[in-house]
Amino acid sequence: MEARIRQIRAILQDKDIDGILITKPENRRYVSGFTGSTGSVFITQQEAIFFTDFRYLGQAAQQCKEYKLVEISRTNPLTDALREYNIRRLGIEDDFVTFGQYMDYTDKLEKVEFVPLKGALTKLRSVKSPEEIALIQKAAAIADEAFSYIITYIKPGMTELEVALELEFFMRRKGASGLSFDSIVASGERSALPHGVASNKKIENGDLVTLDFGCIYEGYCSDMTRSFIMGQGTEKQKEIYTIVLEAQETALRAVAPGIKGSKLDEIARNIIKAKGYGEYFGHGLGHGVGLEVHELPHVNSLGDVEMEPGMIITIEPGIYIPQLGGVRIEDLVEVTDRGYRVLSNSTKELLELK
Ligand code: ZN
Ligand code: ZN
Repeated sequence: MEARIRQIRAILQDKDIDGILITKPENRRYVSGFTGSTGSVFITQQEAIFFTDFRYLGQAAQQCKEYKLVEISRTNPLTDALREYNIRRLGIEDDFVTFGQYMDYTDKLEKVEFVPLKGALTKLRSVKSPEEIALIQKAAAIADEAFSYIITYIKPGMTELEVALELEFFMRRKGASGLSFDSIVASGERSALPHGVASNKKIENGDLVTLDFGCIYEGYCSDMTRSFIMGQGTEKQKEIYTIVLEAQETALRAVAPGIKGSKLDEIARNIIKAKGYGEYFGHGLGHGVGLEVHELPHVNSLGDVEMEPGMIITIEPGIYIPQLGGVRIEDLVEVTDRGYRVLSNSTKELLELK
């Protein structure tokens, strides 16, 4: 935690600001260790303060040992407490603070100039420590186990929602505290919807089925996608599966320190384009994963940051053909000194479930 506070102080210096206010839960947890739902971190060159209300004082005392605790209440609101520090320029999370909060800050702290942090905190989080990687690995392992189980559970006639529910039960029983996002269970024509969250549709024989899901373990997310066929696949279904798999594995093998997210995206996209399906791959190749399921670095055409050891990203190309269905294959990947390590270990062979 001390190292992270030092990183924040480097941002202060870099941006010529004298304080930073952090309220976004993932950023707050990252710099303080606090897992509760209400609290604000305030860091200057001299001080590290954790503001919270009565309900969380005990928890904050245990979790935020590097911080001085200040109780916030109706009679001592955050803006009043901040006044005492004579801040000239205050960095705030422009991608999280609401317009209402901003109006309140500018109204009550009239002498303060507010400086947008523009993702400086999320950028810090993009390279993970070995401890963080171990937690993500555990979340990925739970998802792998859930996949092995769910392919024995799914039968024609079940609804997508039943499958999603079973996945959630399974992962929670294995220690997950929740889902990284609402599980995508998209079957038949619905599999052509890249973000088709589970619906009442019944899974039928001959359907392509896409499962995209992940869980949270000790705050850290996993994310994985597998597509398979319920019953026997058609030639067309197998063709698109084979192309997506080739694109996925080729991009995966290119993962290494120094390569940009945009380049990885291009590698996968070129394969799909060359086979004539370019127009059916309408989303970016992947994204960073950590405390949030979508975070930096970008792994798409905007990804101009070079990969570094310790980054955790996804590689997830897809082909989606309206009326026919879609295929996506997604692995969670760690960028290592020498290249990459795949954290998702579920089979990528095309499964035709009986
Ligand atoms: Zn996913
Ligand atoms: Zn993803």
